[in-house]
Amino acid sequence: METPGDYRHVLAPSAAGWPVLSHWCVWVEPQSLEGPAARFQLLWLQAVEAALGQWQEHLPLQRVEDPRRAQVLIRRERPPRQQLPTGRSRASHGRATLNLQITARLGVWRLEPRVEVLISPHQRRAAIEATALHELGHAFGLWGHSPDPDDAMAAVPGADPVLRLSPRDLASLRWLYGQPTRFGAPVPSAPVP
Ligand SMILES: [Zn+2]
Repeated sequence: METPGDYRHVLAPSAAGWPVLSHWCVWVEPQSLEGPAARFQLLWLQAVEAALGQWQEHLPLQRVEDPRRAQVLIRRERPPRQQLPTGRSRASHGRATLNLQITARLGVWRLEPRVEVLISPHQRRAAIEATALHELGHAFGLWGHSPDPDDAMAAVPGADPVLRLSPRDLASLRWLYGQPTRFGAPVPSAPVP
């Protein structure tokens, strides 16, 4: 049943439960800030940083230089066209893909989400930022779409790009992070290779 004020009913857990962590390591593809493409790379980086800043107000995020340490990896790349069940394909500006991994942290094996996020640079600055805000919502565990176009996690974006998390986004996030999860917890032994 729909709960006023949030969209928990559209959120889907992974095969191993709600893919959330109490602390996230985030890697952003380094940009070359020299040469002819520098202006566009800087624009992309600033838009992604702005979106990350929104999430950082509500989640403990740490930027890491080494992609192997990250659970969220953000790349400056247009996602490949998506094949639809109808046989047609669809272009999109962003995509987040969830994988589950068992990884050693400080000598302890833990179950973690690992999310690859592609953000296309072929958009206006505000659109890049809105795309990043939305795809990062998936990355941080909001795997579902809100029916309301004013939410960052809207299924269908409205006329204006959403650059701030709405009260419903935040209420849904609070609910999600209140759910029990196995992610981040130690697992009994190393995976069988
Ligand atoms: Zn989405």
